[in-house]
Amino acid sequence: MDINTLSFNENGLLPAIVQDEQTGEVLMLAYMNKEAIERTLETGEAWFYSRSRQQLWHKGATSGNRQLVKRISLDCDNDTLLLQVEPIGPACHTGEQSCFFQTIQEEQPSVNSVVGEVVREIKERRDNAVKGSYTSYLFQEGVDKILKKIGEETTEVVIAAKNRDKDELANELADLTYHTLVLMELLEVSVEDVKKVLRDRRPKKEVLRVE
Ligand code: AMP
Ligand code: ZN
Ligand code: ZN
Ligand code: ZN
Repeated sequence: MDINTLSFNENGLLPAIVQDEQTGEVLMLAYMNKEAIERTLETGEAWFYSRSRQQLWHKGATSGNRQLVKRISLDCDNDTLLLQVEPIGPACHTGEQSCFFQTIQEEQPSVNSVVGEVVREIKERRDNAVKGSYTSYLFQEGVDKILKKIGEETTEVVIAAKNRDKDELANELADLTYHTLVLMELLEVSVEDVKKVLRDRRPKKEVLRVE
C-alpha cells in the first residue's frame, strides 16, 4: 500500500486516535503528517505533528511518556488513523492516563473496565486485610478454600446452563469469574497472561503495509 492512499486534509494532516492496546482505553487524539507517519514506522514509537507548535512532535520526548506502537489501522475512507499503543506513562500532559477524563454525559457507568477494577480491589484486600471482607477472608483461608469455591461455582454454572436460565447463568459466571480472579491473584497469574495465551492461539492476520 502506498502512502499516497492516505487522504490527508488540506494541511497535510491526518487525525490519529490513540488507544491503549491492552485495555482498549482511548488515550488521546493528535495529528500526523507524512513525516510523522514515517518516523513512527521507523522507530515503533508515536510521532505526531503539533499544530500549536507547528513542528514534528515525538510523543514523550520531554515528559518521558512515550508510546510504543503495536498496531496502526486506517479507517474506511482513508482519512483517520488508529494507533494502538503500549503507553510508557500518562498520555495527557495533565498527568491523566487519558485525555478524555472529563465526563459530559454518562447514561451508565462503563462496563469495559470492570474486570480491571475488580482485580485492583482484590489486590487491595490481599495487601490490607479488611475485617468483614469476603475477599480478605478467602486469602486468609488460602488456596484450598478458593479451589473448593471454584468447584462449587462451576457446579452452579452447570446447573444454570442446564436450566437455560440466562440470569442465573450470568450470576453464576460472575461468581466463578470472581473466585477465579482471586485464585489468579494468589498464584500470580494475571489477566494479561491469559489474554496473551488466547491471542497467540489465533491465526495470524494479514497486514496492509504503508511504505
Ligand atoms: P510530551 O510529548 O509528553 O513530552 O509533551 C510535550 C508537550 O506536548 C507538552 O508540554 C504538551 O504541550 C504537549 N502534549 C503532550 N501530550 C499531549 C496530549 N496528549 N495532547 C495535547 N498536547 C500534548
Ligand atoms: Zn474516515
Ligand atoms: Zn490531554
Ligand atoms: Zn454461585
